[in-house]
Formats: sequence, structure tokens, C-alpha cells
Amino acid sequence: MVERQLRGRGIADESVLAAMAFLPRDRFVPPGVLSHAYSDDALPIASGQTISQPYMVARMTELLQPRPGMRVLEVGTGSGYQAAVLAQLGCSIVSVERHAELADAARILLEELGLARTVRVVVGDGSVGRAEDAPFDGIVVTAAAPRIPDALPGQLAECGRLVVPVGPRQRQELILLVRHGDGFERSECGACTFVPLIGELGFDEDAGGHGRWLSRLLV
Ligand code: SAH
Repeated sequence: MVERQLRGRGIADESVLAAMAFLPRDRFVPPGVLSHAYSDDALPIASGQTISQPYMVARMTELLQPRPGMRVLEVGTGSGYQAAVLAQLGCSIVSVERHAELADAARILLEELGLARTVRVVVGDGSVGRAEDAPFDGIVVTAAAPRIPDALPGQLAECGRLVVPVGPRQRQELILLVRHGDGFERSECGACTFVPLIGELGFDEDAGGHGRWLSRLLV
């Protein structure tokens, strides 16, 4: 996985490669897809969600420029794998998940792997960030947002980095925002496809992500 899917495709941060080589991704996937644990795919987990493709986890992690002691907000705990990679890199993470079932399972797994000390998993709507724990040196949104949730940039510390997939349901662009004072430097970092961010500053739940667009048409 690391040599072919990550290094072979341009992931160059040795600490990210080492963390992903070390962590047992098979522990984060359900038994039914165990044989695919190290394949080049996102895989289904509980609550109709996914564990992201290894390359995408590596890419997002690299864009955050993680370093020991860095304070990171993750939106979308899912399996807990992305949080585990960041914890392995020495970051201190608050991870928000809207499905309690996923949050509970991730908490247990991170504990078993000895990573619970630096990861706090909370249940809630992460589309609005976590004002009570801000500022963050990094924010990573692991679900697709229709636009950059406008609560998030202001929760970055100076030089803090926000990585978020932005776009319509089917396909998004990975956006990196870096804070410089009151300004933000924006870069586009490639196409991607994530499950939707559902919440106040994300997509609407029951309309399958097209809710805001539809409700605007109806008024
Ligand atoms: N980082 C995860 C990827 C999970 S997929 C991993 O490594 O496995 C994205 C996750 O975002 C899903 O679990 C989904 O339930 C969650 N999610 C979607 N909208 C959310 C919101 N507004 N707040 C918190 N979590 C959200």
C-alpha cells in the first residue's frame, strides 16, 4: 500500500508514510471487506459511511503538514483511521462524528491501539467546527461540503491549515486554506469524491445532498 499507492503517487512526507506503514488499517474495516483492507479504495463501514482511500488519507495528512503537538480538528471520525494517522504523528486531535455508533466504535479501537490519550472523539455536527476548542493548527474535513463551511476558517490559528473537499455530491475539489492574519491563501489540490458532510453548514440530510438547491427552487 505505502510503496505503490502512496510513495508511487507522489506522497513524499516520510513521517506520513511511516505512520501509515505502521498502523493496521485492517483493524478499521468491517470483517466483510477485510481482504480489501490495504487495497486502493474507500471501503464501506457502519452507518452507510466509508473509510477513505489510503491515498486520500495520506494526501490530506500531508497537506496539513502535521508535527508533534499540533492541535487538529477532524470533522468526520468515521472508522477513526485518519485520526489514528494524525495521532501516530504526534498531533492532539478533537474528532467530531455525527453518528454515535461510529464515534463509539472509533473510541474503543483508538483505546485498544494506545492512541486514545491524544484523540478525543465527540458526537455532534462538525460542519460548524468546535468553537469551544479553537483555535486549531489544522482542520481536516473528511466529508464533502457544498462550499467551505464558513465557521471553519475563523477557528484556525495563525498559519493554521484547513483541508476540505468542496463541490457537488458526485465530485469535489480538495481545497487547502492557510490563514495569514485575517486573510487566507487558497489552493486547489485535486479532484476527489467523499461522502457528504451533513449538517448546518453542509448538505441537508433527507434530500441526499441536493436539499438546499431543491428548497431554493421551491421558494
Ligand atoms: N475520516 C474517516 C472518514 C469517514 S467518512 C475515516 O478515516 O474513516 C466521513 C464521515 O463524516 C462519516 O462517518 C460521516 O458520518 C461523517 N460526517 C458527515 N457529516 C458530518 C458532520 N456534519 N459532523 C460530523 N461528522 C460528519
